[in-house]
Amino acid sequence: MPVTERLYYADSHLIEFDARVVDLSDRVSGWTAVVLDRTAFYPTGGGQPSDTGTLNGSRVVECIDDGDKGVLHVVQGAAPQRDAIVHGRIDWSRRLDHMQQHTGQHILSQAFITLFNAPTRSFRVNEASCEIDVDLSNPTSDVIERAVELANNVIWEDRTITIRSVTSDEAAELPLRKDPAREGELRLIEIEGFDLTPCGGTHAYRTGEVGMIAVRSWERAKGLTRIEFVAGTRALADYRRANKSARDVAALFSTGRDDAPQLAAQMVEEHKELNRRIRVLEELAAEGEAEKLLASAQDGVVLHVFSDRDADSLKKLAHALVATQQTIALLASRDRDTARLVFARSADARGDMSLLMREACVMLDGRGGGRPEMAQGGGKNIDKLDAALTHALTLLSRAS
Ligand SMILES: [Zn+2]
Repeated sequence: MPVTERLYYADSHLIEFDARVVDLSDRVSGWTAVVLDRTAFYPTGGGQPSDTGTLNGSRVVECIDDGDKGVLHVVQGAAPQRDAIVHGRIDWSRRLDHMQQHTGQHILSQAFITLFNAPTRSFRVNEASCEIDVDLSNPTSDVIERAVELANNVIWEDRTITIRSVTSDEAAELPLRKDPAREGELRLIEIEGFDLTPCGGTHAYRTGEVGMIAVRSWERAKGLTRIEFVAGTRALADYRRANKSARDVAALFSTGRDDAPQLAAQMVEEHKELNRRIRVLEELAAEGEAEKLLASAQDGVVLHVFSDRDADSLKKLAHALVATQQTIALLASRDRDTARLVFARSADARGDMSLLMREACVMLDGRGGGRPEMAQGGGKNIDKLDAALTHALTLLSRAS
């Protein structure tokens, strides 16, 4: 006889029961593990989290399957005495949620087998959704939605779900969805005319209790297809979240929910077009600015220090300047703690800009480099910026 009789095997909707305390032990958490002669609490296992609830009013935070030693009820607060008769109560909303996800998984997994001969390799109930890893080759959203549709039809046909026990020899003759993980007597869960599988979990009485199944997302993972789904009350909660997100986005466009994707796509296109036009205008502006600076050039050299100008803008201006023959541009920008430099020359002008840049950057405690025609750099020692530019100008005059 196992220590704990598992009442949830016979009735998944039993949420109140009386039992006798047969063992007590302290947990490292400071809480107490209580073993009962019988329990309706489902312990963590098979991808399904444990039930929670109360024992004589004290909180049961988790239940653990300790094999032959029975089910451990981890009690927070006052623990009962050994041999005491206690009253247990299961949190029904949590149990219902787990039954909906778990039974939903039986149905969805069988739907993938029925349609695509694709078995489920693993299953997890997570905080807000569930995952199955399906051996499905060439997955697409259409293929997955076909399985979801079949699963929902099975739910809405409100088929009965029955539990029966068989020996492993009897099981060998039956068309089970998956191989039993254990020897000896087996507990089979049968969804009328649809699915037969060995399982020790808690299941709905009828498929209708699962409500509905919806897929949130899917991806290829380790050669399998990982499908994130929600069933029952989670599907409704997820619909509410998705609807709110979609309506919030639609409000930004002052439109209805279902028109938002098209308007968002339009705005992304407009954004790209505007960026393209900004680049054209920036080049035009740089050409105009270059014209003015060239008028003040001395011996073909334009030297100018700007404030708060980024490297990209400096480079655009340098390009516009050296489009004029026999021109050298020594441009700099200074902000609060950095100096940026761009040196450039037209193809027919003198000097190695890369060399000039390296020398100037040493004085700025920074780094820089490039090609003989174009180089960029910068440094933190902004007090030395004027001296660094004068040095570059001196080197340039020596090169001529
Ligand atoms: Zn099950």
